[in-house]
Amino acid sequence: MPSSTVHRIYNFSAGPAVMPLQVLEQAQRELVSLPGVGMSVMEISHRSKTFEEILARAIADIRELSGLDDRYQVLLLQGGASLQFSMVPMNLLGAGRTADYIDTGSWADKAAKEAKRVGDVNVTGSTKADNYSRIPNPAEVTLTAGAAYVHITTNNTIEGTEWTDLPATGQVPLVADASSNIFSRPMPFDRFGLLYAGAQKNLGPSGVTLVLIRQDLLERSPANLPTMMNYKVQAENNSLYNTPPTFGIYLLGLTMKWLKSLGGLAGIAAINQRKAAKLYTEVDRSGFYRGTAQHESRSLMNVTFRLPSEELEKLFNKEATANGLDGLKGHRSVGGMRASIYNAFPEEGVDALIEFMREFERTRG
Ligand code: PMP
Repeated sequence: MPSSTVHRIYNFSAGPAVMPLQVLEQAQRELVSLPGVGMSVMEISHRSKTFEEILARAIADIRELSGLDDRYQVLLLQGGASLQFSMVPMNLLGAGRTADYIDTGSWADKAAKEAKRVGDVNVTGSTKADNYSRIPNPAEVTLTAGAAYVHITTNNTIEGTEWTDLPATGQVPLVADASSNIFSRPMPFDRFGLLYAGAQKNLGPSGVTLVLIRQDLLERSPANLPTMMNYKVQAENNSLYNTPPTFGIYLLGLTMKWLKSLGGLAGIAAINQRKAAKLYTEVDRSGFYRGTAQHESRSLMNVTFRLPSEELEKLFNKEATANGLDGLKGHRSVGGMRASIYNAFPEEGVDALIEFMREFERTRG
């Protein structure tokens, strides 16, 4: 860790989550005056040449990392993934049609509930009866013929499960909430009609939402939608219809540059696989800890596990926090522990957690 940096603890938060240290340090150096500009990035017009270049660079790097060409539009919007729960059906569903939603977790459920406010929704493949501990197999999913789209949640942040093989949807566009595993590994991005993600886990700070949308789907946006919620308008204005979250986009751009420096998505995937494999090995080692996601559905990003009792979980969390391991408490809806180890989470932090887990088991087990 560079000596210029104050002490940082290990941040296992599910989001907003840890950012790459290099990104924070560059932002710190440039905060008061962008090199060659003499003003903070927060102080310049979103229509200035400087900001246009920052935006263009960020979009170009998103394209490079995802491998998507100009058949896709890259949008950087606001309102978080939660606003996409509404914008997706408002733009894509259309009257008289049905959208399929595969129910793999609390966020998937929320997405479906918002879509129901807009139109006709078919919820399918639910694994709720299994506490969302797994991704459904294809036989459990019943898709509507001629559906407007099929919606999935690529990584279930709360439950710690992740899709590996995407569902086959034929000509029906696949729409994904990829908030918690976007750019954690190579994905066949061109299998999606639309993919969205709140930035605050793998892309940058909260306040920016990435939307990748296939150009032909922009034609579905009804002209009478509220302007800000219309993908077509946002696309025509290159995400500059109104003042965008300029500082967040700048930080997202630095984060993309950092990802490229690690070898892009293949590079980060190797690191993520190593981190997750170590941690799951420890979870499985003795039976004291118990992983809550079924093996074949386990997430590389959110590792969820329980201890033998809620008392021990409380104590684990308290002592972990005291040892500089922050944010391990599971989501309030499921309990237990959750270690979120997104792209920027350092491998030394996983090693520190494993060491702590062994020591805790030795003294309390
Ligand atoms: N979807 C998923 C998978 C999430 O993990 C979250 C946030 N944790 C959301 C949606 C909601 O995102 P936002 O707060 O950006 O609206």
